Amino acid sequence: MSSEFNGKVALVTGGGSGIGREAALLLARRGASVMVVDRDEAGAAEAAAAIAAAGGQAASMCVDVSRADDTRAMVEATVERFGRLDFAVNSAGVGGTRARTADYPQDVWEMTIAVNLTGVWLSMKHEIPAILAGGGGSIVNIASVAGVLGFPHYSAYSASKHAVIGLTRTAALEYARAGIRVNAVCPAFTRTPMVDALTGGSAEHEQKLADALPIGRLGTVAEVAESIAYLCSEGARFTNGHSLVLDGGLSIG
Ligand code: NAD
Repeated sequence: MSSEFNGKVALVTGGGSGIGREAALLLARRGASVMVVDRDEAGAAEAAAAIAAAGGQAASMCVDVSRADDTRAMVEATVERFGRLDFAVNSAGVGGTRARTADYPQDVWEMTIAVNLTGVWLSMKHEIPAILAGGGGSIVNIASVAGVLGFPHYSAYSASKHAVIGLTRTAALEYARAGIRVNAVCPAFTRTPMVDALTGGSAEHEQKLADALPIGRLGTVAEVAESIAYLCSEGARFTNGHSLVLDGGLSIG
């Protein structure tokens, strides 16, 4: 445990798995109290239990970020339980399905946009007033390298992540003087259940993804969580509206 974030309170959506879970654990190790929310209630509860087992402070809640009532309730519950809100990490997301743009099924399109884009906006809609009430803080949205590059066969995912970057920049401009910094991270393939779903668990397919990255390997959740914690930290106090690309060099080739 470190004391860097002692007295700070973080809310992590999608905290029941993958990048969100690791970010929740890292913020807690650095001293923050963490509300872990996920539509997977058991996953959120397990992450909160892991934080408590390591000596941290956490609570969990079942939340669907595409529902306005849920996102309002998650912020109310965080403030009720821990007294304030300083950091929000919006990681809840879905991959959609694999199809070319003209063949993309409308129901999957709508669901992907509802979670990845509207879910981030609804989360911020309720997080921002709570962070303002405490005098300021930091929001980190989890976009993707697919938010800065086209991603063939994943139009809904790529469009939603491009939009998250636009939303991040806009909110960053709106709230900078009020003391909220809003940034995004844009990871490339990082080993989580979402990437396992993409590869179908095939080592050969995973190697192809690794080979596509100049660095020659997938990212790890620890690497993404480190950047999220950095963007929350005092060290990043002049960083606002930034999209931090974590892709082993993919997007510069
Ligand atoms: P993951 O599947 O391990 O975690 C996503 C979590 O979001 C799950 O626990 C899931 O239950 C939750 N979730 C999904 N829909 C939800 C909803 N409507 N309400 C609340 N929770 C919901 O995947 P991950 O890789 O950790 O993904 C986390 C974020 O990182 C996503 O936004 C994803 O798009 C983004 N991302 C992942 C990668 C990668 O390679 N893994 C790369 C770039 C961006």
